[in-house]
Amino acid sequence: MNKVTKKEIINSLKVQREIFGDELFIPKKKKTTKVVKEPTTSFTEPALFPEEKEDWEKTSSLEELEKLICDCTKCGLHKNRNKFVFGTGNPNAEVLVIGEGPGAEEDKQGLPFVGRAGKLLTDMLRAIKFEREEVFIGNVVKCRPPGNRTPLPDEMDTCMPYLKKQIELIQPKLILCLGLTAARGLLKKRESLGSLRGRVFEYEGVKVMVTYHSAALLRNPHWKKDCWEDLKMFRKLYDEIVR
Ligand code: URA
Repeated sequence: MNKVTKKEIINSLKVQREIFGDELFIPKKKKTTKVVKEPTTSFTEPALFPEEKEDWEKTSSLEELEKLICDCTKCGLHKNRNKFVFGTGNPNAEVLVIGEGPGAEEDKQGLPFVGRAGKLLTDMLRAIKFEREEVFIGNVVKCRPPGNRTPLPDEMDTCMPYLKKQIELIQPKLILCLGLTAARGLLKKRESLGSLRGRVFEYEGVKVMVTYHSAALLRNPHWKKDCWEDLKMFRKLYDEIVR
């Protein structure tokens, strides 16, 4: 700092002191005006290039949907796929059960829930008076994740539109999500399974409940008691809505 500047500062401080007393006056930073961008037009401009729908999006039957998507290569899971697992059951089911993704046996047979977890699911459904054939059983992802790992977020995001289309075509009255992956995929909730259980959610106007995955029950049989409470609540809701 040169001498002249120092002198100027001292003088200016003296002047300030005369005006404001001993309190140091530091000029505040100029407030910048926040610019809120207003839309230039009051209507939504139509997209110049509306995205063309893919054929499977336009279909009106589950059968056709399966044909159109079974060779899907949109995510990496197709590389190790033996069979695409579309889902099975009543195309007009009132109840849709959603799992995570095919395991080894499902990948071999091309059918959902046919392994040990599948047998337990059949028993769980029977316990609340549903036969497997009267409901529809599907998964969040249609191809087996290697080593039965949890599907990755991008794999789920890629496959979810297929499940959403299945829901649109089946028009179930109630959905049962098995486990956190199914619940998170459909409901986009980040909460724990503990906080999702025992509540009724809605997806596109369809009531949704969440309970343990049958594979988790095989690993932790002490959860069966809580699961039984969920299933009874699910059946009660079904009786209220459908009956
Ligand atoms: N676990 C799932 O989540 N889905 C199946 O189809 C089989 C096991």
